[in-house]
Order: sequence, then structure tokens, then C-alpha cells
Amino acid sequence: MKDYYEILGVPRNATEVEIKKAFRGLALKYHPDRNPDDKASEDKFKEINEAYSVLSDAEKRQNYDRYGSAEGMGAGFGAFTGAGFGDIFEDIFGDFFGFSGQRRKRPAKGNDLRYDLDITLEESAFGIERHIEVPRWEDCSSCHGSGSKPGKGPVTCTNCKGTGNVRFQQGFFSVSRTCGACDGTGTIITDPCPSCKGNGKLKMTRKLSVRVPAGVDSGSRLRMSGEGDPGIYGGPPGDLYIVIDIEDHPVFVRKNFDIFYETSISFPQAVLGSEIEVPTLDGTTMLRIPQGTAPGKAFHLRGKGIPKLGGHGKGDEIVVINIEVPKSVTPRQRELLEEFAQISGDKTSRTFKDKLKDIFSGAEN
Ligand SMILES: [Zn+2]
Ligand SMILES: [Zn+2]
Repeated sequence: MKDYYEILGVPRNATEVEIKKAFRGLALKYHPDRNPDDKASEDKFKEINEAYSVLSDAEKRQNYDRYGSAEGMGAGFGAFTGAGFGDIFEDIFGDFFGFSGQRRKRPAKGNDLRYDLDITLEESAFGIERHIEVPRWEDCSSCHGSGSKPGKGPVTCTNCKGTGNVRFQQGFFSVSRTCGACDGTGTIITDPCPSCKGNGKLKMTRKLSVRVPAGVDSGSRLRMSGEGDPGIYGGPPGDLYIVIDIEDHPVFVRKNFDIFYETSISFPQAVLGSEIEVPTLDGTTMLRIPQGTAPGKAFHLRGKGIPKLGGHGKGDEIVVINIEVPKSVTPRQRELLEEFAQISGDKTSRTFKDKLKDIFSGAEN
């Protein structure tokens, strides 16, 4: 997990002002305009923006401090991109450069959301339809998102006369700052809506049906357009990203579109050849083991793997053969093996003592 405090170079008990100051300094230093075509600076810039988007938000910061994630404990669920990138940028530079205004009233796309979906290997091979429950913010139906008690609409902020920012003189400059009374919105809620406590939005659980196509892999992202958080001031809603994770399988290991199966055969089976039954994703199949199969030999069952996304064929099932060496043998088995060794002229059957004898007598080995 990233340490957002470390990224911004502030102590864990840093105040909001200290965090903002640290961010501002770093953002100016790593801003893409100042570092054109510099990938490292760009990444750094994104990282400090991410850190700031969490630490500058009291609720997200509290969740981050407590759970190590800005989104609290919501199982498998969280804001995907956090606050809109442009919003943060404007938030910090808007009033810095005097661009501020009723920025919060500008329509903006809602937050994208992320939902982590665990599926089995078989489900990834054949595709599946899953019903999921996604908690997300929705406009409060009582006040239609205004945050005010019905019939008692928000009133214009007197501090900034509805502009959302206040100007003041600092040396030679006329500086514009976000209005603290209305937090830049230009309006004040005098009678908050009892359902949403003036927030205008409520956390709701939405039931969705997700069609997971055959061939997805761990890390695959499915985008559900418009299923994220609602837009701000009439902006479009964000998107929901379903992020796939495939559970470990008891028998198969998946690698890209191939699946691997490891099995053991006996020494006689390896030497004489045999036919064994192996599991496949949709049942079992017979595999012919040719005479003289060495341990580690891999057999490809063509097209028995995972379908490639977009219908471009299928991967293979790869059966890797091990040879079982018995831990103990019966006297009869020993007799037969010793005879086998003798007939084969098997040098490895000679004892260590015999070898020593050879060495000391100068015998050729
Ligand atoms: Zn409401
Ligand atoms: Zn105001």
C-alpha cells in the first residue's frame, strides 16, 4: 500500500493547511507543463494528486488512517479514481491563481467505482452471469439532490453574493479565494433535507447483473458505463469497473490461455507406455503415455484450455508428467527390480563400497 503521508512528505498528524501546502509545492514542481515528456514526473504528479485527494478529504483520510484505504471497509468496493483529477487541480490552483469562481457548480462527471469480483477458473473459461450489489451514492429522492427541505430551496450566500469566492488585496495583487461560508458553492442550505441531512445524496445499494465473458483473466476490467456515482450538477454519472480475480483452482494452474495439470505415473507406466485418465475443464479425457516417457514431459491437449477473448480459438491444457518412485518395496518387488537392474547392466545398482573399491584398485570406471 502506498504511504500517502510519505508521498507528500508530511507527518501523520499534519494539519489540512500543511497538507495543502506540501501538495502545492510538489504539484508545482512535478506539473506536466513544467516537465514536458517526462514520464517519471508525470507518474509522480499523479501519485501526489492521488495522495492529496485522500488526505485532503476528512472522511477519506480517516478511513485511510484506520483501514489503510480511503474507502473504509466496504467489501470489495471503493471509488476507483477518487475525486476527479481536474477537480483537485482546480481546487488547489483555482484559488491560487485567482481562477476560482463557482467551480463547484460546473457540471462534472461522477466518480468511477470499482467492484472486485472473484470467479472460479471454470467460470472464467465458460463465462458467467453474476448478480452483484454495488453500494453507490444516488441523488436523494426527497429533495431531488438539492439538499434542502422540499420547498425551502438553498439561499444565495451573502458572504460572496453567490459567486462562490471572495477577493481581497494582498500587496499589489488582488487575490481571489474560495468563500468559506458556502464552500464555494455560492448557496447556503438553511433547512437541510431530513432524509440526506443536506448532503443531497444517499448511499444506496444497487443490484446489477454482470455478464462475464469467457476468457477473462485476473486483472481483466469490465466497464459498465454510467453505473458509477451520479454526476455533479447535472454532469454524467461515472462508470463502474468490475475487476476480475480468479480463485486458485484445486487441480489446474492457469497461465494466459493455457491451463496446466500435473500428474504422476508409475515407473512401469513410464517405461512401457500406458493410457491415463486426466481431468479437463469440462470432464475427463484419455491421454496416451508413449513408451519411454521421461519425467517432466509435457503433453498438450490442443484447445482444451481457456477461450481467447474475441473468439480467436482456445489455449491448451498442458499435462506435465511426474514419475512416482515408491518409498518402499515388497521383497518380491525388490527381487524383480534387482533382476531388472542386473539384466540392464545397471551401474547405479552398485554400492558406494564397490565404487570405492574400484577407485582404490585403480580400476577404470
Ligand atoms: Zn435530501
Ligand atoms: Zn459564499
